[in-house]
Amino acid sequence: AGGAKIVKKGTLTVCTHLPYKPFQYNEGGKVVGFDVDMMDLVAKKLDLKQSIFDTPFEGIESGQSLNTGKCDVAAAGMTITDDRKKVLDFSSPYFDATQAMLVAKGSPLKGLDDLAGKTVGVQLGTTGADYVRANAPKTATVKEYEDLALLTAAVKSGQLDAGVNDNGVLYDYVKSNPDTQVATEFDTGEQYGFAVAKGQNDALLKDIDDAIAESKKDGDYDAIYKKYFGE
Ligand code: GLN
Repeated sequence: AGGAKIVKKGTLTVCTHLPYKPFQYNEGGKVVGFDVDMMDLVAKKLDLKQSIFDTPFEGIESGQSLNTGKCDVAAAGMTITDDRKKVLDFSSPYFDATQAMLVAKGSPLKGLDDLAGKTVGVQLGTTGADYVRANAPKTATVKEYEDLALLTAAVKSGQLDAGVNDNGVLYDYVKSNPDTQVATEFDTGEQYGFAVAKGQNDALLKDIDDAIAESKKDGDYDAIYKKYFGE
């Protein structure tokens, strides 16, 4: 393909933040997930081998990781936002998401309005953190967590009354943690995109867009979806 810039020869270096199951997570000593399989399609197209670089989400979404050449692309269940578009170039959207609220099974809390005087957890640097700060009652205490696993564990253990994160990851979590439930979804209408350094790698961006489009035509996208989300 046409002139994609690559930081390390022979390798598609992919920045992500682990764990964000089912988009990227460790299983049997390997990083797997929806985004990982999508990036394998891009790597294959460019005759490269994917190498995953785990780094804090704040560095990814602020553009720092990509714009300092730590990786070629970010694949991190990352929502395309206007703020992020100022510092990153995004692929076409590849996944729809919305914020959702995780609570303990049987909790009476149904939505953000019920969080007055309660403690709600969010993940650092995320659209969920922004949403809660903008919309939760003033008397709610907002606690920030470095990653999804810490956030969900704090809801499960009762340290938090609720946790807000993307619907896909929370529905996946409750499948294996039946002592928790998704109380509600918020209509934030988000779309995930893969990102490259701002204004520096149009060729790679085009390869990514082509890989997404091809995967939707040839059945690879549906197969990957089924693999990580079931029917
Ligand atoms: N989609 C959310 C965001 O972009 C969360 C992403 C993540 O935590 N990996 O902020």
